[in-house]
Amino acid sequence: MNDQTIVRTSTAALYDAHVLKNYARAAVTLVRGRGAQVWDDQGKSYLDFTSGIAVSALGHCHPHWVAAVQRQAGELIHTSNLFRNPNQAELARRLIGYAGPGRVFFCNSGTEANEALIKLARLHGMQKAGGVEGQCYKVICAKSAFHGRTFGGMSATPQEKIQKGFRPLVPGFVFGELNNLQSFAELIDADTAAIFVETIQGEGGVHACTSEFLIGLRRLCDQHNLLLMLDEVQCGIGRTGTFYAFEQAGIHPDAIGMAKGLGGGFPIGAMWVRENAADLFHPGMHGTTFGGTPLACAAALAVLDVIEKEKLLAHVTRESGPWHAALRKMAADFPAHLSGVRASGFLVGVQLTSDPGPYVAALREHGLLVPSAGGNVMRLLPPLNATAAELARCVEIFRGVLASGAIAVPVAKA
Ligand SMILES: *Cc1c(COP(=O)(O)O)cnc(C)c1O
Repeated sequence: MNDQTIVRTSTAALYDAHVLKNYARAAVTLVRGRGAQVWDDQGKSYLDFTSGIAVSALGHCHPHWVAAVQRQAGELIHTSNLFRNPNQAELARRLIGYAGPGRVFFCNSGTEANEALIKLARLHGMQKAGGVEGQCYKVICAKSAFHGRTFGGMSATPQEKIQKGFRPLVPGFVFGELNNLQSFAELIDADTAAIFVETIQGEGGVHACTSEFLIGLRRLCDQHNLLLMLDEVQCGIGRTGTFYAFEQAGIHPDAIGMAKGLGGGFPIGAMWVRENAADLFHPGMHGTTFGGTPLACAAALAVLDVIEKEKLLAHVTRESGPWHAALRKMAADFPAHLSGVRASGFLVGVQLTSDPGPYVAALREHGLLVPSAGGNVMRLLPPLNATAAELARCVEIFRGVLASGAIAVPVAKA
């Protein structure tokens, strides 16, 4: 046994003995990363198109990000929200530059950003009901949505595998068909406070709201005095080639939940609320100890710096064209395995004809890390600065695995 084997054995053994068994983890221990590459404890390298589930927006250890975090770590890390800190102020200013006039609340994760949105909906409903609490509280969400694992987020996520075992849930969530405006319109009643959807569903299998649907939701919200709240936790922060995915529909939401890519690997979430609606929150009504620390905000500011300096929005848009085309060609060449590609920038869902498990494992074996999603979908989530060569390499590895016959051709179901 060499030293590396001992390290791996003990990591696996320690997980087995001591870590909660709430994940189906791959049997890989990752120890180092650079750009779009990561290495395991055996020295094997992988092209990382998981990016920590759309989190490592700049790839691993981008020098500007590392320098900013190191500098801040030696300066001031945490103070609580009992005091101001300059990084939080600056990050709010920068985000408003993308989202529009409004205010920002900082938290630590996607589900926490969504909790803030759900609480915003309750406050808006109370205001609608003339200050009476508990009357106007319904939020219309989408079937196959994913909004997180806390009680609010989970209650907005109508999936048996997420909700089972945890009922009763938070009341007030009802669900329409994505991209079916009529089905959302029919759910609106006097008790409705908000509409809340992912601009592009990530975990659900990379299903995007069409522009017409988003425009229609905006109109419904205006007609019925509802808040239009968008979950951009996965599709935001440049992933689709615009800073927020909804920009491509030309609409303006009332509130946005964001997280994943925002910190480039450092945990940070945020809720943006447009002016007026933001005034529903008063001191003491919501909060979190860790939200918007000097360190978390330094990490997020570094992400925004690099997105801007390296023109990553244009990069994502430009490189997506040939990459998507190559993926679609691959899908056409292997129709028994692949039945389509749904892609928006660097948020890609490859529709498989069967369970993604064997594909994800075979790609990992061949040096490509990718996550699956619901409905037999495999996601490809490169860092926003992935090069044309890395994108091409992803297709090359994928094609190699399909052509090798390593995965049995799924038997078509009758
Ligand atoms: C990941 C995700 C969440 C939950 O974020 P966490 O940081 O895991 O709590 C919520 N909404 C969407 C769209 C997500 O992709």
